[in-house]
Amino acid sequence: MGMKNNNKFIVDPVTEEMRKRARELGIRTVWERYKENHARSKDAPFQATCMTCQQGPCVDVKRTGVCGMNKDIIVAKNLVSETTIGASAHVGHGRRIANILKGVGEGSVTAYSIKEPEKLDRVYSGLGLSGAKTNEEKAVEVADAILDDISKLTGVPRMLVYRALEERRKLWEEKGILIDGGCPEIMEAMNRIAMGMDADMENLLLGACRLGLVDAYCGMYPATTIQDILLGVPKLIRIKTNLTVINPEEINVIVHGHIPALPDAVVSAAEEYNADPANSPKVNVVGMCCTGMEVLMRRGVNYAGDILQQELAIATGAIELVVVDIQCTQPAIVEAAKHFHTKVVTTDPMSKIEGAVHIEFDPERADEIGRELIKMAVDNYANRDQTKVYVPDHEPHDMIGGFSTEQLLEALDKVKPGDPVGALVDNIKNGNIRGVAAVIGCVTPRDEYGFRTVELLRELIKNNILVVLTGCVATVASYHDLLKPDPTYPGVGKTLAKVMDAIAKANGLEALPPCIFMGACVDNSRIEEVLNAVADYLKVRIDQLPVAGSAPEYIAEKAIPIGFWTVSLGIFTHLGDQPNVAASERVVKWLTDDVERIFGGKFYVEADPYKAAKKIIEVIEEKRRALGI
Ligand code: SF4
Repeated sequence: MGMKNNNKFIVDPVTEEMRKRARELGIRTVWERYKENHARSKDAPFQATCMTCQQGPCVDVKRTGVCGMNKDIIVAKNLVSETTIGASAHVGHGRRIANILKGVGEGSVTAYSIKEPEKLDRVYSGLGLSGAKTNEEKAVEVADAILDDISKLTGVPRMLVYRALEERRKLWEEKGILIDGGCPEIMEAMNRIAMGMDADMENLLLGACRLGLVDAYCGMYPATTIQDILLGVPKLIRIKTNLTVINPEEINVIVHGHIPALPDAVVSAAEEYNADPANSPKVNVVGMCCTGMEVLMRRGVNYAGDILQQELAIATGAIELVVVDIQCTQPAIVEAAKHFHTKVVTTDPMSKIEGAVHIEFDPERADEIGRELIKMAVDNYANRDQTKVYVPDHEPHDMIGGFSTEQLLEALDKVKPGDPVGALVDNIKNGNIRGVAAVIGCVTPRDEYGFRTVELLRELIKNNILVVLTGCVATVASYHDLLKPDPTYPGVGKTLAKVMDAIAKANGLEALPPCIFMGACVDNSRIEEVLNAVADYLKVRIDQLPVAGSAPEYIAEKAIPIGFWTVSLGIFTHLGDQPNVAASERVVKWLTDDVERIFGGKFYVEADPYKAAKKIIEVIEEKRRALGI
């Protein structure tokens, strides 16, 4: 399954060195476990196996299971199951953050405030609400509307009506995938895959498309929107990345997971601690995974590592505390931590890990818990064995992030005052920018670290494709300096570099980075905002735009509903690995061909980054030709 390095690709030396160090210490990392597991089950992705009922399990079904369900249905059903899990993760995120907004509005949560009243106003009226007099009242009503979107039995979520283009909404209604509330949708998705229920492949796969909409409008959008309102709309910010931001001279705390609420309180508590001259050494909070990206964008916190680097960070021996919230925390970090003094603290009741300390996050006590965690880290510093500390001797990488939709439009407005979308569209029309590719998702242990993502990005920018990034792919991009502003624009196509330079100059910047980092996984919602604005400006459908999506190294289930959402939006969506559907040619054909006739978008699977880039460019050029530009 792994892609062969072309020998020109230089793997991040910091990660390589820390993997070696972990091996020496007897710490099994994700790479070792990946090899072990896939050596045992190399045929697993090609099986149609159903474990739904007690007549089964029906393993490696060639014709039908005991109940008569054929392998196409089994494979489609399993995919719906995976998609449901992914969507529920983002809806869970949306629900948690909406409850905090409500608490802020009602006055029971005081650790956060309405940092962006303008955005609150926009969202308030966008959701069709009116009549509230104060920001607090608006916050409560927005939170209630979002919680209602998540829970209501019937009726289209307000967020979908607000954010999706009317043309898409009508198409989704016509094709029968317009959704009700997020939780009933998730319940019905589980219902349809129960024994003796949905045995129609296309109906099941359209059900997965519904879950894509659930993920977007009851999960990602609420998360991004509320986090912006409470914690600030991201603005351009410079930070440092990679494991070498861990400072052996300081008390190191990692914030890890996806919801930035508690991490924000941890950062504030650390700042408070560090402000006291009597306190030495100081506390160095660093980020990991999507939580890391959230605090990077809004608090300027340096970024220590992605989903694959979590054990390696602990293997530095210099981590006093790892605070995790939800999602993408590999339970193996607890085993890695046992080699050192490192404490792992879980904070969400749905995401405990055996062997970790559990301190439940209560938004009403956020400040207090933040201080408690910093005290725990400070106290634990005394237990550090300095002889075990090992941080590779490499400089961290420079990165510029914080391209929220608002920030992007503000920057473009400086290029063409009063017509920011026009500034982008002009350059797409005249061909300086051939098209836009959104590259998103995780990084995988299948290949050499970052190979697939970084080589894909290099090919795209070389060919004047504007690349926007969200999620862990951004970390490997930064380790290869693709998020570092450099006025010589190394590796960037000539005309794209010219546009980037013009935007940079208009904004008083030395340069823009070769790729544009828009945030964590939930911030895929920002990408749709930009695409909607461009489609609206050009008076065309999204599926007509010269754009593509790509998840070259996805791992988490969350990527599957995101993919169904982008396909339902009409976007050509590249996946670096096929979901576990290869046992059914019919399912593969539906996903990679038939669905295009319904929504205008489809999946395309290709592991090789060069072939994938070539195909993405071909699709973009075809769309340009069809538009006559
Ligand atoms: S639902 Fe059908 S295919 Fe699945 S385990 Fe039961 S008998 Fe087998």
